[in-house]
Amino acid sequence: MGSPFGSRKINNYCAFCRSPHWHYRHRNLGVLHIGISLISSVLISLYAFGELDTRLTLFFVVGLFISEIFTQVRWRLALACRQCGFDPVIYKKNPADAVKIVKAHLDRRQHSSMALRPLKLPVLSSHRAQALQKTENQPRLSKQI
Ligand SMILES: [Zn+2]
Repeated sequence: MGSPFGSRKINNYCAFCRSPHWHYRHRNLGVLHIGISLISSVLISLYAFGELDTRLTLFFVVGLFISEIFTQVRWRLALACRQCGFDPVIYKKNPADAVKIVKAHLDRRQHSSMALRPLKLPVLSSHRAQALQKTENQPRLSKQI
Protein backbone atom coordinates (compact mmCIF):
# COMPACT_ATOMS: atom_id res chain seq x y z
CA MET A 1 0.00 0.00 0.00
CA GLY A 2 1.58 3.23 -1.13
CA SER A 3 1.49 6.51 0.66
CA PRO A 4 -0.61 9.29 -0.92
CA PHE A 5 2.44 11.55 -0.60
CA GLY A 6 4.78 9.26 -2.54
CA SER A 7 7.01 6.42 -1.51
CA ARG A 8 9.02 6.81 1.67
CA LYS A 9 11.77 4.61 0.27
CA ILE A 10 14.05 4.86 -2.74
CA ASN A 11 15.11 1.71 -4.56
CA ASN A 12 18.54 1.82 -6.14
CA TYR A 13 21.78 -0.14 -6.25
CA CYS A 14 24.83 -0.14 -4.02
CA ALA A 15 27.64 1.95 -5.47
CA PHE A 16 30.20 -0.74 -4.63
CA CYS A 17 28.67 -4.22 -5.02
CA ARG A 18 25.70 -3.24 -7.25
CA SER A 19 23.26 -5.17 -5.10
CA PRO A 20 19.67 -3.93 -4.99
CA HIS A 21 19.40 -1.56 -2.09
CA TRP A 22 16.78 0.77 -0.62
CA HIS A 23 17.01 3.71 1.73
CA TYR A 24 14.61 6.27 3.13
CA ARG A 25 13.81 9.28 0.99
CA HIS A 26 13.60 11.88 3.75
CA ARG A 27 16.58 12.80 5.88
CA ASN A 28 14.68 15.42 7.86
CA LEU A 29 11.10 16.08 8.88
CA GLY A 30 8.69 17.43 6.30
CA VAL A 31 5.65 19.66 6.48
CA LEU A 32 3.39 16.63 6.96
CA HIS A 33 5.37 15.50 10.01
CA ILE A 34 5.24 18.97 11.55
CA GLY A 35 1.46 19.07 10.98
CA ILE A 36 1.00 15.66 12.60
CA SER A 37 3.11 16.76 15.56
CA LEU A 38 1.03 19.95 15.93
CA ILE A 39 -2.27 18.05 15.78
CA SER A 40 -0.96 15.47 18.25
CA SER A 41 0.14 18.16 20.69
CA VAL A 42 -3.26 19.88 20.43
CA LEU A 43 -5.03 16.57 21.12
CA ILE A 44 -2.74 15.80 24.06
CA SER A 45 -3.37 19.27 25.47
CA LEU A 46 -7.14 18.89 25.08
CA TYR A 47 -7.06 15.46 26.73
CA ALA A 48 -4.69 16.38 29.56
CA PHE A 49 -5.94 19.88 30.45
CA GLY A 50 -9.43 20.00 28.92
CA GLU A 51 -8.55 23.11 26.90
CA LEU A 52 -5.82 24.53 24.72
CA ASP A 53 -3.04 25.26 27.15
CA THR A 54 0.22 27.05 26.55
CA ARG A 55 1.99 23.86 27.60
CA LEU A 56 1.02 22.36 24.25
CA THR A 57 4.00 24.24 22.89
CA LEU A 58 6.18 22.00 25.06
CA PHE A 59 4.51 18.86 23.64
CA PHE A 60 4.92 20.24 20.14
CA VAL A 61 8.63 21.05 20.51
CA VAL A 62 9.47 17.78 22.29
CA GLY A 63 7.49 15.83 19.68
CA LEU A 64 9.33 17.56 16.85
CA PHE A 65 12.69 16.97 18.52
CA ILE A 66 12.08 13.25 19.04
CA SER A 67 10.67 12.85 15.52
CA GLU A 68 13.64 14.64 13.95
CA ILE A 69 16.14 12.47 15.81
CA PHE A 70 14.24 9.31 14.89
CA THR A 71 14.06 10.35 11.22
CA GLN A 72 17.76 11.16 10.99
CA VAL A 73 18.88 7.95 12.76
CA ARG A 74 16.56 5.85 10.59
CA TRP A 75 17.85 7.50 7.39
CA ARG A 76 21.48 7.10 8.44
CA LEU A 77 21.17 3.42 9.46
CA ALA A 78 19.42 2.48 6.21
CA LEU A 79 22.04 4.18 4.03
CA ALA A 80 24.80 1.58 4.40
CA CYS A 81 24.62 -1.46 2.12
CA ARG A 82 23.47 -4.58 3.97
CA GLN A 83 25.33 -6.87 1.58
CA CYS A 84 28.85 -5.41 1.51
CA GLY A 85 28.80 -2.79 4.29
CA PHE A 86 29.63 0.11 1.97
CA ASP A 87 28.61 3.41 3.55
CA PRO A 88 28.60 6.39 1.17
CA VAL A 89 28.69 8.94 4.00
CA ILE A 90 31.83 7.43 5.51
CA TYR A 91 33.33 7.06 2.03
CA LYS A 92 32.77 10.75 1.33
CA LYS A 93 34.37 11.79 4.63
CA ASN A 94 37.25 9.30 4.68
CA PRO A 95 37.63 6.70 1.92
CA ALA A 96 40.27 4.74 3.88
CA ASP A 97 37.82 4.15 6.74
CA ALA A 98 35.17 3.04 4.26
CA VAL A 99 37.62 0.52 2.78
CA LYS A 100 38.37 -0.89 6.25
CA ILE A 101 34.67 -1.24 7.03
CA VAL A 102 33.92 -2.99 3.74
CA LYS A 103 36.89 -5.35 4.18
CA ALA A 104 35.79 -6.22 7.72
CA HIS A 105 32.21 -6.75 6.57
CA LEU A 106 33.31 -8.97 3.68
CA ASP A 107 35.55 -11.00 6.03
CA ARG A 108 32.65 -11.54 8.43
CA ARG A 109 30.45 -12.44 5.48
CA GLN A 110 33.01 -14.92 4.14
CA HIS A 111 33.32 -16.70 7.50
CA SER A 112 29.58 -16.63 8.13
CA SER A 113 27.79 -19.97 8.09
CA MET A 114 24.68 -18.45 6.56
CA ALA A 115 24.01 -19.06 2.89
CA LEU A 116 24.37 -15.66 1.31
CA ARG A 117 23.81 -14.44 -2.21
CA PRO A 118 27.12 -13.96 -4.07
CA LEU A 119 28.15 -10.36 -4.60
CA LYS A 120 29.12 -8.71 -7.88
CA LEU A 121 32.25 -7.05 -6.57
CA PRO A 122 34.20 -4.80 -8.91
CA VAL A 123 37.12 -6.50 -10.60
CA LEU A 124 40.44 -4.70 -10.29
CA SER A 125 42.87 -5.15 -13.17
CA SER A 126 46.54 -5.64 -12.32
CA HIS A 127 47.42 -2.34 -14.04
CA ARG A 128 44.81 -0.44 -11.98
CA ALA A 129 45.92 -2.24 -8.78
CA GLN A 130 49.51 -1.10 -9.34
CA ALA A 131 48.33 2.46 -9.95
CA LEU A 132 46.30 2.42 -6.73
CA GLN A 133 49.24 0.95 -4.82
CA LYS A 134 51.43 3.82 -6.00
CA THR A 135 48.88 6.44 -4.89
CA GLU A 136 48.47 4.78 -1.47
CA ASN A 137 52.23 4.88 -0.90
CA GLN A 138 52.50 8.56 -1.76
CA PRO A 139 52.18 11.04 1.12
CA ARG A 140 48.88 12.88 1.15
CA LEU A 141 48.81 16.56 0.42
CA SER A 142 47.15 18.66 3.03
CA LYS A 143 44.32 20.92 1.98
CA GLN A 144 45.31 24.51 1.49
CA ILE A 145 42.77 27.11 2.49
ZN1 LIG B 1 26.99 -3.13 -1.36
